[in-house]
Parts: sequence; C-alpha cells; structure tokens
Amino acid sequence: MDVERIRADFPILCRQIYGRPLVYFDNGATTQKPRSVVDAIVDEYYSVNANVHRGVHFLSQQATELHEASRETVRRFINAKSTNEIIFTRGTTESINLLAFSFGEAMLQSGDEVIVSVMEHHSNIVPWQLLASRKGIKIKVIPMNDKGELLLDQYETLFTEKTKMVSVAHVSNVLGTINPIKEMIDVAHAHGVPFLVDAAQSIPHMAVDVQNLDADFLVFSAHKIYGPTGVGVLYGKENWLEKLPPYQGGGEMIQHVSFEKTIFNELPFKFEAGTPDYIGTTGLAKALDYVSLIGMEVISAYEDKLTKYALERLRSIPGMQIFGESENRGSVISFLVGDIHHFDMGTLLDRLGIAVRTGHHCAQPLMQRLGIEGTVRASFGLYNTVEEIDALVAGINRVRLMF
Ligand code: PMP
Repeated sequence: MDVERIRADFPILCRQIYGRPLVYFDNGATTQKPRSVVDAIVDEYYSVNANVHRGVHFLSQQATELHEASRETVRRFINAKSTNEIIFTRGTTESINLLAFSFGEAMLQSGDEVIVSVMEHHSNIVPWQLLASRKGIKIKVIPMNDKGELLLDQYETLFTEKTKMVSVAHVSNVLGTINPIKEMIDVAHAHGVPFLVDAAQSIPHMAVDVQNLDADFLVFSAHKIYGPTGVGVLYGKENWLEKLPPYQGGGEMIQHVSFEKTIFNELPFKFEAGTPDYIGTTGLAKALDYVSLIGMEVISAYEDKLTKYALERLRSIPGMQIFGESENRGSVISFLVGDIHHFDMGTLLDRLGIAVRTGHHCAQPLMQRLGIEGTVRASFGLYNTVEEIDALVAGINRVRLMF
C-alpha cells in the first residue's frame, strides 16, 4: 500500500495545526474525505441535482439512477442478496433507532428480552431503553473479562424463551476488541433469535460479508468510512424487513394514500420517508469505491501493522495503561498515562498538532465497568503512518514530563 499516494488524495492531511503537521488520530469519531468523494458531491450538485424517484424529467431520472446505483454499490460491498435489503438512513444511530422502533412495534411484548453487551456505544443502548419504557421489555447485558473480551459462556446463559433480539458491536469503539460476531450469531440463531451487528467501527477496517456472517441486520455510517456525514445504512434480511412496519410516514414510503387507508411502498422504500440524501448516497458509493480499489484486505493488513507498532511503542511509555488487550483487535487504542487526566493529555497533544479523542466515547456503562471516567483514544485510518505514531509517542512523553 502506497500510503503517500493515498495521503495525497486527502487534502486536509496537508494542514498545519498550531504550526505543526496535523496528525489525525480521531478516525473512530469520523474519517477524512478523499477528493473523489467531495468531487462527486460537488459534481452532482452542479450538474445533476434534482429530486429523485418522482420526476419524469431528465435530471430527476439521472439523479434517481445515481441514487439507486449507490444502493447497488452498498449491496455489493457488504454482499447482500438484494438491494431491497439496503435501507438508506442518516447513520448508524438512526438505523438502530429505526430497527428498535419497527421491530419493537411488530415483534415485542411486555416481558420480552433484548441482549446487548457491556461495551456498546450509547446508540446501541438508548434506543432499546426507549423501547423498554414504551413496551416493558428487559435489557440483558453480556459481560466481559478484564482484557475486554466478551464472555461467551455467560452470553449463552442469557437466552430464555423471552429473548427476541441480540444487538452487539462488531468492533468496540473504545477497546478495539473485534467481537467473535459470527460465532455469536450462530448461538443466537440456535435459539431462534435474530442478531443486529453494529458495524460502525468494523466496516471501515475489514471486509464485512452479511451472508457469510448470516447477520439478520447490520448498520453503519458513511462518515466513518471516508464518506459524507448524514448518510448511513440499515441492512436487513428481506424476510425480516417485509414483516416490519414503517418507522416514519411521508412521501416516498407510500404506494397510495387516502384518508381512509394508506398502502405502504415496497422494500426498500417503505423505510425511506421523505426526500433521501441522494447526494450523500453518491458520496457513500464513491467512498466504498475508493476503499474497494485499494482492497479491504490490504487496508486491514496495513492498519494491523500500524496498530501492532503503536501498541508496542505505547507500552514502552512509563505509567501507560491500555484499556483493551484482546488478541483479536482493531485499530482503536484507548489509554491513560499515570494520573494525567485524559482531557489534559488530549488538550496538550492537540497543541502538538495531534488530534485524539478524550472522554467516555459514548460508552458510559463500559467506563463504569472499567472503573474510570474516560480515556484518551487514538484511532487509525488507512492514511496514518508509522511516523505519526512516533510523533504521538514523543508527544505523550513530552506531556508526561510536564506533569
Ligand atoms: N456505534 C459505534 C460502535 C460507534 O463507534 C458509533 C460512532 N462513534 C456509533 C454507533 C454511532 O454512529 P453515528 O454517530 O455515526 O450514528
């Protein structure tokens, strides 16, 4: 992988921050965008823009073709069987809310149970809690060991005849743990329970194949895989999506409306009320084209090398405590150094041009489990380099000496 050539595709990486070259290690929060993505968005606004699906005129049809071609690009990228299984949303959060609402309406009754894990992002906890307060369902939590690995034997014991859904992150946005999602899906299916994979932190870093995983539902955000903000995907097996009611009502999602009776549109439009972000979906498709051209396996191997190097170098720093020591891990590293507050570390690293995230990372139950308030988090993307990791290590050592 020619990382210098890749870096040239991302204009923002040339920026100086406080007179120093930007080191962008906040990819877990959002990634930077290659020129091809931004150009496609600008081009569509300048030369194609028209509302999709409803128009007979040339531009509307061209915009619709682009939008539906993007759906096909997503289908191919995650190896879904049909574009009917690809619902465009505003992002991971909306995808989970959509599913929790629609699945909850159709399938859940008071006393039913949903299983999540202790390392979930708030967006895979709160929608289920909202459902719990609406429907009186119970949320059960898969615990983990001190290395940040889910306890699979305990997972199995959580199932009862009341279990109706399991919803777990593929990769933890704090610990970097890659959960054994395929194995976990098999367990759920053995109990006749569907499984939702939160792929927000896996899709940018590894090949994800919904048929191979046998995932019933899978969600992700475009902005974490070098695409634009405001667009995301809910994948669902067609036989599940057919059974679920719409999440929102409006245009696009109907076939016929009268004051007596409304007939909903077919899949995937049943779940896409209102004008979709058809420019954003073009951006998403371009981003998927971008990473596909490099190859997800190549990206995965490169980031793995970076992460191993970073872990080795970070561990050599006196007072370094790394949270998440799973064997099978992605390119997210959370840490604290001595008694330096994560916020102080993040602020001082920023002065050196190094962008890391600090805080609870929208995973407060996990922080509680770890007995801490927050961490510093460095998360890598395909454009990061070994030299940047050296800069991070030098930066941490400099901050350490100040305390
Ligand atoms: N799940 C995980 C594991 C995440 O890391 C994130 C983003 N930090 C989300 C869900 C929510 O994603 P979004 O804010 O794009 O909806």
